Amino acid sequence: MTTMRNPTADRYATLPDRALAAVLRAEDTAEEHHGLDPFERISCRLHRRWIHQCVHSPTHVVAITGHRWCRDCECPASISVDELLGDVVIRCTGCLRVPTTAATRQLVRACRASLAAATA
Ligand SMILES: [Zn+2]
Ligand SMILES: [Zn+2]
Repeated sequence: MTTMRNPTADRYATLPDRALAAVLRAEDTAEEHHGLDPFERISCRLHRRWIHQCVHSPTHVVAITGHRWCRDCECPASISVDELLGDVVIRCTGCLRVPTTAATRQLVRACRASLAAATA
């Protein structure tokens, strides 16, 4: 039986993917204590997945910052991740264009890094 002195330390103990668990812990610490931008993360604290595996979730649409968001149409953008080719495409569900924002580039970068880390 494990002690529960610090429940957050064991948050990822049951994850079968040990590499993912290690990245989640490291990025949680970096975000909390070293100012890591949460949008630079390659692991998702909320879903406990690699970012490219859960970035399709509506939770990852952030209108304020422009992540998965088209500011012209004010509507969400879809994201498709090709795990074989390493392709990441974000496209507005309204105008079907790729939002040309720093947030879009950042998200594509994070997903590519996440893909690379997951297959390493
Ligand atoms: Zn997520
Ligand atoms: Zn649009």
